[in-house]
Amino acid sequence: MQSTKFDKKVLIVEASESNIGGTWISKGTVPSKALRAAAKLIQSFESQFGDEKGRKPYERFRMEDIMAYKKPILEGKNKKVKDDIIKNEVDTARGWGRLIDGHTVEVVDHLNEKKIYTASYILVSTGSSPTIPKNIDIDHTKILDYTSILDLTHIPRRLVIIGSGTIAIEFATVFAALGTRVAILNEEEDVVPFLDHEIKSALLKTFKKKNIQLENKISIEKVASNDLRNCDEVHYKIGESERLQVVETDHVLYIGGKAPNTKNLGLKEVGVELDEHGYVSVNNMYQSSIETVFAAGDVIGQPSLASASFLQGRLASVKMFGNPEEITNSDTDLPFGIYSIPEIAGIGLTEDQAIELGMDITVGRAYYENLTKADLNHETDGILKLIFKTDNLQLVGVQIYGEYAADLVHLGQSVMANNGSIKFFIQRVLNYPTYTEAYKIAAFNGLNRVSKSGVKYKKLLDRD
Ligand SMILES: Cc1cc2nc3c(=O)[nH]c(=O)nc-3n(C[C@H](O)[C@H](O)[C@H](O)COP(=O)(O)OP(=O)(O)OC[C@H]3O[C@@H](n4cnc5c(N)ncnc54)[C@H](O)[C@@H]3O)c2cc1C
Repeated sequence: MQSTKFDKKVLIVEASESNIGGTWISKGTVPSKALRAAAKLIQSFESQFGDEKGRKPYERFRMEDIMAYKKPILEGKNKKVKDDIIKNEVDTARGWGRLIDGHTVEVVDHLNEKKIYTASYILVSTGSSPTIPKNIDIDHTKILDYTSILDLTHIPRRLVIIGSGTIAIEFATVFAALGTRVAILNEEEDVVPFLDHEIKSALLKTFKKKNIQLENKISIEKVASNDLRNCDEVHYKIGESERLQVVETDHVLYIGGKAPNTKNLGLKEVGVELDEHGYVSVNNMYQSSIETVFAAGDVIGQPSLASASFLQGRLASVKMFGNPEEITNSDTDLPFGIYSIPEIAGIGLTEDQAIELGMDITVGRAYYENLTKADLNHETDGILKLIFKTDNLQLVGVQIYGEYAADLVHLGQSVMANNGSIKFFIQRVLNYPTYTEAYKIAAFNGLNRVSKSGVKYKKLLDRD
C-alpha cells in the first residue's frame, strides 16, 4: 500500500487461496489475541462475581462460544485487509511465488498454471513456520503446535506446554484463566530472560497464584499416550538428574522455534544471501545482497513481530521509491509487548541493562494496587518502572507488568523519542482514573528517591 502512494503498480503474490494477511490474521497474532480477550473477559467476570457453585471456568464456559467470539473478528480483519488492498489498487495473484532473477517472479497457481511477472523491485515477505521437533510427533489432535491449539474444540483441564518464549507465556496464562491446569516444561535455564528482574518476579508470582507449574532445564524423554488412563504423558528429566519425571495431561502444546519460509523460493539461485539459519540477510534498509530484492517480516528473523513487520515493509518501500532519510528507526526504539494475562511490555533499557552500562540511573515505581482504575477493574497485579538518568531525569527505559502494558508503553516511547524526562509526567495533566496515572505515580516516586539522595527538590524540578 505504501508503494501505491508513490504511484507505483504493485502485485501481491499469496500462496493461500482464501486468506490474505498471513500468520498475523489467520494463524497467529489476531486469533491468539481473540482467544486471550475471551479468556480475560472470563477471568474478569470470575474475579468480580465469582461462582456460587465454585465451578471452574471450563465447567461454565464452552470453547465453542469462545471460538464463536473469535470467528467474526477474523472474518472482519480478513475483509478489511482485502478491502484496503482493493481500495489502494494493489493487484493480487494467488499461487506459489518463486524468484527467477532479481526482477522476475514465477507464480504457480492451484491448477498448476504458471505465470511470469516482472518488476523493478521484489519484496520477499514469506514469513516463518513452526519448527518440527525430532522426538515429538505433533498430531494436531492431542499434541499441538501454536497453530493447531487455536482450533481446539474444548477447554482442556490439563495442558503441558513445552517451550518458554513469549508465545508459551501467553498461552500458559490464557489457559490458566480458563481454569486449565498448566505446566510449562522449559528446556532453557530461564524463561523470557530479557525481562527486567522485577517484571520477571511479578510474572513468576502470577504463575504461583494461577497454579502454573514451571520446570526449567528439562530434557524431554518422550511424549506418549496412556490409553488406560485416557491421557497423554510427558516423560522428562530435570538438569543433570537421571530421575525420570512424568506429568499427565490432556494436551501437549509444543512451542519450539520458528524457521524462515525461504525454501523453494529460488533465493539462493538468484544470489540472495541467507544467514546460517536460512533467514534473508538484509541491510538497515531491508535490502538483500541483490539490489532489487528486499525482504521484511519473519523471513529476516528477529524480532519476528507483526508490529515490526509492518514498519519494515513500509520502510523497504520508502527506500525503493521514496526518501531514504525517512528511515530513522533504531533498536532502542523497539517496544515489545507480551499478551499474557496480565500483559508485559517494555521499551529502552531495563534497570539491569542501565547498571551494566555504568549509567547513573534512578528507578521510579508505581504499583497497580495504587491505581484507582486498576482497583475499579479488579486488576491490581502490576508494576510500572521508569528508569531515568539521575542527573537530568531523562527517561531511558519503561518496563511494565500489568493490564494494558502493551498500550501504556507507547507514552514512554513518545517521551523517549523526544529525549524527554520524567518531568513530563509530573507537569502534565493526565486523565484520571486511568492506567496512565501509573506514569505520574512512578515519576513522583523516582523524584523522591533522587531527593532522598541529597538533591534539593526545587533544584530537581529546575533541571533540564
Ligand atoms: C501464536 C502467535 C502469536 C503472535 N502474536 C503476536 C503479537 O501479539 N504481536 C505481534 O506483533 N506479533 C505476533 N506474532 C508474530 C506475527 O504473527 C508475525 O511476526 C507476522 O505475522 C509476520 O508477518 P510476515 O508478513 O513476515 O509473515 P506471515 O504473516 O507468516 O505471512 C507470510 C505470507 O506469505 C505467504 N507465502 C509464503 N510463502 C509463499 C510463496 N512462496 N508464495 C506466495 N506466498 C507465500 C504465506 O501464505 C503467508 O500468507 C504472533 C505469532 C504467533 C504464531
